[in-house]
Amino acid sequence: MPDIIPLDCHYRGLRRFAAAYLVIEGDRAAFIDNNTTRAVPRLLDGLRAHDIAPTQVDYLVVTHVHLDHAGGTAALAEACPNATILAHPKAAPHLADPRRLVIGATAVYGEQAFAELYGRVDPVDEGRIRVVRDDESIDFAGREWRILHTRGHADHHFCLHDPDARAVFAGDALGLCYPDLQDHGTVALPSTSPTGFRPAEARASVDRILDLEPDAVFLGHYGALAAAALPEAARQLHGHLHFAEALALEAEASDLPDEALQRWVEPRLMDYVRGVFDGLGPLGRDPAAWELLSMDLELNAQGIAFAAKKARFKAGRATEP
Ligand SMILES: [Zn+2]
Repeated sequence: MPDIIPLDCHYRGLRRFAAAYLVIEGDRAAFIDNNTTRAVPRLLDGLRAHDIAPTQVDYLVVTHVHLDHAGGTAALAEACPNATILAHPKAAPHLADPRRLVIGATAVYGEQAFAELYGRVDPVDEGRIRVVRDDESIDFAGREWRILHTRGHADHHFCLHDPDARAVFAGDALGLCYPDLQDHGTVALPSTSPTGFRPAEARASVDRILDLEPDAVFLGHYGALAAAALPEAARQLHGHLHFAEALALEAEASDLPDEALQRWVEPRLMDYVRGVFDGLGPLGRDPAAWELLSMDLELNAQGIAFAAKKARFKAGRATEP
């Protein structure tokens, strides 16, 4: 069995919010996701704590190119000179040339917050990127890893399955399950952030992960979800994704102009989540819980509104998505 070590990336200064994983097999290591350039020193500390040299890192796995998973890839690759970067075919071009990612994220967060959150996002040397196909097998120090392309959260998303370890590294495909929200049982919310949210595909990806019958699923946000919690997490995600889909359809069909959609989606999404949280006792009224979710809910509203705009564009009802 490999050692699987969650590394807290302290993203947004929050604990147990965004994880990268260090996987160790014998004297070889791999990182699954890397958060941001700001988190890279923490990841290298994690290596040191386990007496592994950066030259012993074989892979940097990038589940998808959202910058809270992939922003540190270039910096980590520079520190780990023997590592091959595993990337989805749609992610690889953005790693090699991150300019569009930077422009997109700057538009979402604003220039100052972008600089604070991500620091520098440099291009990754193209020669070090290995594009991974759906169902492909990867050899990691004699272990077999399998690649699962999992759309829904993003078109450039894949999960990594280690069949012998009965482990899945799910990136954001199994939603957000913050440990600080799990006091009263499993609480899972999907991440429907822009610009690739596809509700039906997101539900299919949840099912695909559960069909593997893993003992544990390792989430970007945050930590391990044990087998016993998976059916309830999947049930909640299906329900929330159906709601998000209905909201996107209603927004699309409305007479509202494109630029008003997000303002329309946001309070409806908040009312829905408030309803969900009302069932959680004191946790549902805990300001810290809402602080934890504030950015996600804003991004989720943006992603739902963007999906509505995209659908209008496809139907010829908007000039740009
Ligand atoms: Zn993501």
